[in-house]
Amino acid sequence: MKYLMTAGLETHVELSTKSKMFCSCKTEFAGEPNSRCCPVCLGLPGSLPVINKQAVELAILAGLALNCKINTLSYMDRKNYSYPDLPKAYQISQYDVPLCYDGFIKLSSGKVIRISRIHIEEDAGKLVHNKNETLIDYNRCGVPLIEIVTEPDFSSSDEVREYVQMLQHLLRYIGVSDCRMQEGSMRCDVNVSVRPADSDKLGTRTEIKNMNSVANMVKALEYEYKRQTELLEKGESITQETLRFVESDGSTSPMRSKEDARDYRFFREPDLLPLHIGEAELKRIKENLPEMPSIKLERYVKEFGLSKTDAQHLIKYRRVSEFFDEVAKLTSDAKTASKLIIGQMFSLFSTEAQKEEFSVKVTPFQLSELVALLSSGKVNSSLAKTTLDKMLLSGKDVTDFLSAEDLKGFTKAELENLCAKAIEQSPSAVADFKGGKEKALMALVGFVMRESRGKANAETAKECLEKLLTDN
Ligand code: ADP
Ligand code: MG
Ligand code: ZN
Repeated sequence: MKYLMTAGLETHVELSTKSKMFCSCKTEFAGEPNSRCCPVCLGLPGSLPVINKQAVELAILAGLALNCKINTLSYMDRKNYSYPDLPKAYQISQYDVPLCYDGFIKLSSGKVIRISRIHIEEDAGKLVHNKNETLIDYNRCGVPLIEIVTEPDFSSSDEVREYVQMLQHLLRYIGVSDCRMQEGSMRCDVNVSVRPADSDKLGTRTEIKNMNSVANMVKALEYEYKRQTELLEKGESITQETLRFVESDGSTSPMRSKEDARDYRFFREPDLLPLHIGEAELKRIKENLPEMPSIKLERYVKEFGLSKTDAQHLIKYRRVSEFFDEVAKLTSDAKTASKLIIGQMFSLFSTEAQKEEFSVKVTPFQLSELVALLSSGKVNSSLAKTTLDKMLLSGKDVTDFLSAEDLKGFTKAELENLCAKAIEQSPSAVADFKGGKEKALMALVGFVMRESRGKANAETAKECLEKLLTDN
């Protein structure tokens, strides 16, 4: 019997705000333990929360980017439970009416993963387990989070991997979160079940909590698929439970039996007003949303004739794509510009963070000037390359490196003259070419390049030669 895998994801993402969800404490990662806390995030009696407007905006941006509908009226609720990392003994979250709902993300195969909801909530503190003691760091208490919940739409670990990577890319791109799984600013709970291939009723699921790397998620999914399948094959049943991933051997182990919503005794947060999002506000936030990378990708391919791979390189980092967009507005040869950016400008950077920052001395306008010279054939590609290197180092204009003589370039008439001369002086290459040896043409191109001292454009020279030879 063949068994199918079904998975659904709950992803917690820390929002890139400067201050916490309900107080003005800083959100920065790490730092002296318990140095970024106040009565509000410690839940001391008498303290009152104030909602962070920027957090709500970022949550809405995330919702819009994931094609969600936005509730113009939603509520904050208390989720009650007691654990040492939660000094208030409740978390402020959203229960029955989340801020965003009914979205989706489309995988590269075209498959749609539905997003049931995105709600805002606050993070808990961090427990540090040492040998004979456990220490508590409350710095993370009250850091703004969104939780993005999918429908059980995944049917393989590959789909899960792609979804998480797409989500990371998108949320970074729109500036909602840095989504660093190793640092815990993105964490996933993986729900997984199996069912016989001939059944369409979903099996009983288990939930693996707090996964902090995509590789581990894939391992956990594969492990659970195998474990659950083997149990079913033995005629046993699956217990719905919460598991933890054991990194040392790639297995899962029970953490606690699955809690029920009833266990949390949700009720409306009495210290906060309902969350109203006005039409005008929503409109303003929508206008802040940049062109989505998937749309850009299609546009680059269609509008500028870039290859899909090149377009993917450009949309990977927001600053890069925006730099390219600027250049593209200033030139009629965006494709040449893309090549210079991907080839030469990227090679300045080695880390992801550097590429993300894309701090370059050359402005889009300066690059467009070089592109214009290159595509009109006034400078050839090797001269363009060395010139761009100099520009990148100095931040100076192209005209600072190319003399008037260089820029005078090469007129069409001059090129035709040289080509005619090449044909005249290389009868054997001409005979070879006419006899069907296409390669012989390169000898003639070489002649033109030498005579012009590199100023001619090899591609145009080749076209010109071909024309002269076939016309005669
Ligand atoms: P809870 O409120 O207990 O967390 P939800 O219904 O909100 O439960 O589901 C949590 C996650 O589990 C969702 O991402 C959902 O897609 C997923 N899920 C639900 N049922 C199944 C199932 N049978 N198999 C796999 N995933 C499931
Ligand atoms: Mg859950
Ligand atoms: Zn605080």
